[in-house]
Amino acid sequence: MNAPTKTAATPASFALGSIAVAIAGILLKAFAWQLTGSVALFSDALESLVNLAAACGAYIALRQAARPPDVSHPFGHHKAEYFSAVVEGVLIIIAALLIMKEAWDVLFDPRPLQDLGVGLFVNSLAAILNGAWAWHILRRGRAFRSPALVADAKHLFADVATSIGVIIGVIAAGMTGWYILDPLLAAAVAVNVLWSGWHLVRDSVGGLMDEAAPEEIRQEIHEQIQLHGAGSIQAHDLRTRVAGQRTFLEFHLVVPRDMRVADAHRICDAIEDGLRGKLGDIHIAIHVEPAEKAKPEAEVIIAESPPPPANPASAG
Ligand code: ZN
Ligand code: ZN
Repeated sequence: MNAPTKTAATPASFALGSIAVAIAGILLKAFAWQLTGSVALFSDALESLVNLAAACGAYIALRQAARPPDVSHPFGHHKAEYFSAVVEGVLIIIAALLIMKEAWDVLFDPRPLQDLGVGLFVNSLAAILNGAWAWHILRRGRAFRSPALVADAKHLFADVATSIGVIIGVIAAGMTGWYILDPLLAAAVAVNVLWSGWHLVRDSVGGLMDEAAPEEIRQEIHEQIQLHGAGSIQAHDLRTRVAGQRTFLEFHLVVPRDMRVADAHRICDAIEDGLRGKLGDIHIAIHVEPAEKAKPEAEVIIAESPPPPANPASAG
């Protein structure tokens, strides 16, 4: 493996840690399933596949998407992570179908569970490992103010909760001899797997469809243009889109018709600096227009507009 770049070192190492924890979890849970023959434990093992998929996606995103723009990808590689998400989505659906099939077979042929004590102990080890890792990345995520890490931690905690539910269910099945509980639990886990897979895929599709930046980001953009646009008249036709970690923004900036190019450029730079100060690495394109291009429905009004254009059809 190549040495991670300086900026990506910490997040990428967290992603690698998550991959290792997910693999260990899958192995432990699969072993517990082998020991007991419980489909609920089998479903718990396959649920960890979702974690593995998500961790691999995060790693690819950090390594690929962080690459700087080049000649053939002048806007950067931010959408790389969406490709991995498509693979993750397929993997998750396969996992859910496998669980459903196993659960269906056992539903009509419930069988006694074996070696419950050892099996549940092994499965609990996986849950403890997941819980400890979740707690670790939650703490670091809050320290780094990384929403991605915090979200990861919360997802893992939800998984631990599922595992505990499965363990309790399997104990109940073993104690009551009500073995039908086992496939029923597995089916419930399959639905949960499909649900988290759906969330993962939905978020990625939003990115592929050039979804706008969230409302609070757009609000911040309006405020920064207002704050740093002194000398211009208004900003209109604002458009944002999000690709991976990066936000793209374009808009028209209307300035007095006789303003010198150098002055208009200075205002653009001031707005860009303000936006980058608040929003970090944002890609900005500003189209400068003379006063008669002002639109009544402008998103940001900076100064009193001149009279409306003589021929509104030419506005734009
Ligand atoms: Zn410039
Ligand atoms: Zn315009």
